[in-house]
Amino acid sequence: MTEALNALKSRLATMTDINLASSILNWDQATMLPDAGAEQRGRQMATLAKLSHEILTSKETGELIKTLESWADKESPDNMDAAFVREARRQRNLEAKVPSTLKSEMNEHYSRIYTAWTVARPKNDFLAIRPLLEKSVELSRRFADCFPGMDHPMDSLIQYADQGVTVKSTLALFSELRHELVPLVKKVTSSKHQIDAKCLEGDFEEKAQLEFCKVIAARLGYDFARGRMDLSPHPFMTRLSGGDIRITTRARREDLTDCLFSVIHEVGHALYEMGISPELDGNIVGGGVSSGVHESQSRLWENRVGRGKPFWDFFYPLMQKTFSHFEKVPQDQFLRAINKVSPGLIRVDADELTYNLHVMIRFDLECQMLEGKLAIKDLPEAWNARYASDLGVKVTDFKNGCMQDVHWYGGAVGGSFQGYTIGNILSAQFFDAAAAEIPTIDKEFTNGDFSKLKVWLNQNLHHYGASLDPDSLILRATKTSMSIKPYMTYLTGKYSDLYCL
Ligand SMILES: [Zn+2]
Repeated sequence: MTEALNALKSRLATMTDINLASSILNWDQATMLPDAGAEQRGRQMATLAKLSHEILTSKETGELIKTLESWADKESPDNMDAAFVREARRQRNLEAKVPSTLKSEMNEHYSRIYTAWTVARPKNDFLAIRPLLEKSVELSRRFADCFPGMDHPMDSLIQYADQGVTVKSTLALFSELRHELVPLVKKVTSSKHQIDAKCLEGDFEEKAQLEFCKVIAARLGYDFARGRMDLSPHPFMTRLSGGDIRITTRARREDLTDCLFSVIHEVGHALYEMGISPELDGNIVGGGVSSGVHESQSRLWENRVGRGKPFWDFFYPLMQKTFSHFEKVPQDQFLRAINKVSPGLIRVDADELTYNLHVMIRFDLECQMLEGKLAIKDLPEAWNARYASDLGVKVTDFKNGCMQDVHWYGGAVGGSFQGYTIGNILSAQFFDAAAAEIPTIDKEFTNGDFSKLKVWLNQNLHHYGASLDPDSLILRATKTSMSIKPYMTYLTGKYSDLYCL
């Protein structure tokens, strides 16, 4: 058995190396690559994806898993080797259904559409990107065809990002959340006590923003000796190894909150990856377990910590020192401004209350596109209609409408967005569980000490990597399964105070 286990580990370590090499090509494409290099880069990434796919789906890998699976199934959830074998089987069962030619075609196409989107979006040119988006939907549908017997074509994509989640379970969750969220949004937006966020407008030098954000990142526990921060049009985090976990951000001179909250968000993702047990480095379970759990970490730091009073009790004096614009702005006014609720056009700029409504719109439209009920030519109209009905805002162009998110223009159509709302819901659950064990948490933050929260997350979530499935991890960390209750209690309490409800 030991021999088979070592052989399987060695094969999949090669696969992981190939995947991580592909991740750096992807990081490079998002940060440095000249546009003219996109075509060849797409081919290079498709080659690596094909090699990785071949290793996982090979006869040899299948035989090794067969030799080990009955042992792995009997072992405890905490046996990391057994978890590795079970995860190898899960991934292989998925990958074996998808022809490598389709994987290559998808990767090559995603690289092409991403570059085309970076050119077309600033020009507001939906017509230029439309045929490529049609191709993306076609590829997603062909991908779904590889998984016959699923309730919905999008289930095939969701299972890669959020194990155990389906279109049906997501729609039920969204409906429960919407039922409580929409009345709260209505109360807040019709309150007499509206917040004026003008104090955030100014002219902030990009370099100063980046330096300030680096100070915050380091204070929250981001280890710059194992990472770096660069610029990209759409901020993201990427794990290249246990010793190389990078984040990116973007900076707008007129609004420093974009850079600020992007950095805190990506730091949340990075702390997760940095907290994974070093013994899992290079192993297929040595990464975050699902997009929902990953997003819970970024949203927890961005919103629960980074938009809270104790955080700014510590950082606001430094903020005022760094940006003279804030010298005359009282901290309380700033704090209210960064928590203003304002239904808008852009998901990534959305406040905590309306954010999930943006997600639900995308999820529903993706379902319709994959069901063949919504043609790409009709997407802008459908998008705009939903923004009018759900958020009460009028979309006047494509770039701030259906061309705004990188997801459809750099990956599959479907399978990603549910993770954002699941992440929001879980962020409250995890934070409450941590705070129950750290009664002095607010005081610690006020003193600029975020280490106890980080250590709690390291011990209760991060270090497991993907060795426990998401549901088992949530249960172990919070003693309950996923529930919207802690999230709604948090939102209702916070916004009732802010808007005097
Ligand atoms: Zn995120």
